[in-house]
Amino acid sequence: MNVYEAGLVRRILTDAGFAEVEREIEADVLLMMTCSVRSHAEQRALGRIGSFRALRSARPGRVIGVLGCMAQRHKETLVKNHGVDVVVGPDEYLRLPELLAQARSGRTGLVAAALSDECYEHVAPGPRGSVTASVTVMRGCDNYCSYCIVPYVKGRERSKPFARVLAEIENLLDAGVKDVTLLGQNVLAYKDGGRDFPALLRAVSGIAGRTRVRFLTSHPRDLTEETVRTMAELANVCPSLHLPLQSGSDRILKLMNRGYTRAEYLKKIELCRRLLPGLALSTDVLVAFPSETESDFKDTLFVVQSVRFDSAYMFRYSQRPGTKAAQMHPKVSEADSGRRLARLIEVQNRITRESNAAMVGEEHELLIEGPSPRGDGFLGRTSSGKVVIVNGPFRAGDTAVGRVTHLNGWTPVAEPVRGPAAVPV
Ligand code: SAH
Ligand code: SF4
Repeated sequence: MNVYEAGLVRRILTDAGFAEVEREIEADVLLMMTCSVRSHAEQRALGRIGSFRALRSARPGRVIGVLGCMAQRHKETLVKNHGVDVVVGPDEYLRLPELLAQARSGRTGLVAAALSDECYEHVAPGPRGSVTASVTVMRGCDNYCSYCIVPYVKGRERSKPFARVLAEIENLLDAGVKDVTLLGQNVLAYKDGGRDFPALLRAVSGIAGRTRVRFLTSHPRDLTEETVRTMAELANVCPSLHLPLQSGSDRILKLMNRGYTRAEYLKKIELCRRLLPGLALSTDVLVAFPSETESDFKDTLFVVQSVRFDSAYMFRYSQRPGTKAAQMHPKVSEADSGRRLARLIEVQNRITRESNAAMVGEEHELLIEGPSPRGDGFLGRTSSGKVVIVNGPFRAGDTAVGRVTHLNGWTPVAEPVRGPAAVPV
């Protein structure tokens, strides 16, 4: 999502006459897009601001700007305690040209952090020369999961107008994008008048042709049978779903305010697997939420082991100021949370490897994204979203059918083959 946010800012600034440089040392203005979801992300950003300050000392007049969620959360503190010149929250990027002009003429310490209904519907970041691209379809979040800071820093949930989403996608298609992801904190909550997420998915699929369509993130509570059936109906909508579980314990899910039980979650997984052949499932799991016991954690392990997600992002609870969970007790000790996270990662890593190993012998249609950074072939993506290394030569944007022959570490390796894909594309 922040890659998309940075794309918005890049477009706003290039339209205002700014030019991007390759290296920090060449820049007159240093901007950082930030994340507040976990304290670790904030600590790293503060470290980077320190290195920006060193660059400013080396050339006074350089401007340092902090953008996004940390700007929204810390406001003036970033000016007073961290020497930032310009602080701009997620709904204020359109003011950047004006704010940077002021800062460059010496008026620093500027803070723009009002939240609004801003959707940046007239700012299209464009694809940046890649065959994959994203489009934000909704912003903000009203769910108030008790651990999460997003609703406080990104504001109320609102959807980008239907026609604007389609126009943005048309642009990406014209630019040759072959794989497009609809983005939002909970895309399933999309609403523009009477048009909901399945309607959006149908319309996007209708214009996308052979370009693949995916979306991220889906709140399990809002995943309906209609959405799953719509996915199944539309050939260019990929069989991939990111469905954050967070916890497998009903007691913890309730404290988290997630709005579903473990049984409801498992039922939805069952529905998805039944209706979507070749589905790849990914998830987010959070361990050591306040008051989580060993038995709650075992419930999480149980769900992870029974669903067998293809991949997972796994986090240790990080206390966020102002959230409900910050007031909940007892906190789980560092030692217990570290041990639980390590155990979860160990279990999931084994499952991820096994799920990749199960691809050996299968044929998949691969969208080539470019040469592999390790120089051992080309990166191809299956329609379910898995990355495969395939022998070339290819150009980015080509499609090829590859037969998976073995794993290199965890990564499936494929040989190009002729003939139709054995798996639905
Ligand atoms: N809107 C998305 C998630 C946004 S944040 C959703 O609801 O799925 C991405 C992930 O960060 C979350 O799914 C959660 O697992 C994790 N996360 C959020 N707040 C956190 C916190 N306080 N500590 C640790 N992980 C957190
Ligand atoms: Fe945070 Fe929950 Fe909203 Fe996701 S749905 S952004 S976890 S409050």
